[in-house]
Amino acid sequence: MSSRYFTEEHELFRQSLKDFLQKEVVPHIEKWEKTGHIERFIWKKFGEMGFFGIAYPEEYGGMDLDLFYTVILLEELQKVNSGGFAAAIWAHAYLAMTHLNKEGDDAIKQKYLAPSITGDKIGCLCITEPFGGSDVAGMRTTAVKKGDTYVINGSKTFITNGVYSDYLVVCAKTNPELGNKGISIFVMDRETPGVSATKLDKLGWRASDTGEIAFDNVIIPASNLMGEENKGFPYIMQHFALERLIMGINAHARAEFALDYAQKYMSERQAFGRTIDKFQALRHTFADCYADMLMCKEFNYAIADRLNNGEYVVKEATISKLRSTKMSDEVIYQCLQFLGGYGYMEEYPLARLARDSRLGPIGGGTSEILREIIAKMVLDNKDYKPAT
Ligand SMILES: Cc1cc2nc3c(=O)[nH]c(=O)nc-3n(C[C@H](O)[C@H](O)[C@H](O)COP(=O)(O)OP(=O)(O)OC[C@H]3O[C@@H](n4cnc5c(N)ncnc54)[C@H](O)[C@@H]3O)c2cc1C
Repeated sequence: MSSRYFTEEHELFRQSLKDFLQKEVVPHIEKWEKTGHIERFIWKKFGEMGFFGIAYPEEYGGMDLDLFYTVILLEELQKVNSGGFAAAIWAHAYLAMTHLNKEGDDAIKQKYLAPSITGDKIGCLCITEPFGGSDVAGMRTTAVKKGDTYVINGSKTFITNGVYSDYLVVCAKTNPELGNKGISIFVMDRETPGVSATKLDKLGWRASDTGEIAFDNVIIPASNLMGEENKGFPYIMQHFALERLIMGINAHARAEFALDYAQKYMSERQAFGRTIDKFQALRHTFADCYADMLMCKEFNYAIADRLNNGEYVVKEATISKLRSTKMSDEVIYQCLQFLGGYGYMEEYPLARLARDSRLGPIGGGTSEILREIIAKMVLDNKDYKPAT
């Protein structure tokens, strides 16, 4: 169907990734969901397979492949039915590593990006604070320059990979009086004195470690500043386009996974002497769900294509996340209903899917904030420009 976007090489990649996930990941998912700790060996295996490097330059060990390899990685990660495992992987590979690649200098890339590609180092991206996540410009964490160091004080929360990662990409105010024009981005080692983390308990994404992080007089070299001082806000906004599209793609993929599962279940489950996929009420609901999923999927592919061609698709990526995450919640809710009581049982995949999907309209910009952005762009002709 989607040969417009996917070549034979893409499909070979998809198949080898699927095989890898079934063999190396799926047997461990239940354990990681229970412990909330994804063991190190799998990060290393992902690195050995080259999965962390598909979007990154060859000089740091990557493969510099087009965005549709990333689309495939994201889609297949959703189909192991652990939103937490998928999130841990993509938060490392596309939140932390995107900043390293775009804003880090060569020394930072050698020290952090290259080992991130091999799976030797795991990263996280720390933007949200306990006082507020939507209002990024209102962050309170500070970075004060002292000689050839910065001293960081403050706290972050809800950080994916926030507990078990090796390094942190941290946004902090270098000039608090300048509001969103006073934010900068740094990288720091987990082991730096003054950094501490607490693991949070949560509804879904249970395999991933979500952390609250405190910075108490953390001293880092000034060379750990990424990009230019005070340019952090445009950097964050710029990468939000990719992040939001990623969350849109994740959403269509998990909805598709739910529909595939429900279809099979409905073709086997009997009620009143026939399989339940023969009941018109269910058939029509299924058709609606399928149509909504496919609309999002095709839209997301089209936007991925434009992003891949270098267009700045911030409005479209925002729409992708807004619509796809809503669709995913609704489709998964309905698929759980198709399974009746079994839908509510942990032994069947829909229970976890429903929990994991609920984060979609919250993380990486809530639906309310996304609507604000779209309204500003459409109604007020506001133009968001890429950072220069
Ligand atoms: C499991 C999980 C993983 C996460 N991972 C990361 C991560 O790796 N890194 C990171 O930095 N962050 C991460 N986040 C944080 C996430 O991005 C924030 O939770 C999100 O941006 C919302 O911020 P908040 O929770 O502070 O809500 P608030 O900003 O306090 O919002 C509360 C409510 O008010 C609404 N609201 C706020 N402002 C407006 C407005 N102007 N108009 C209308 N409504 C408004 C919101 O939509 C929401 O409904 C994660 C969160 C979770 C739950």
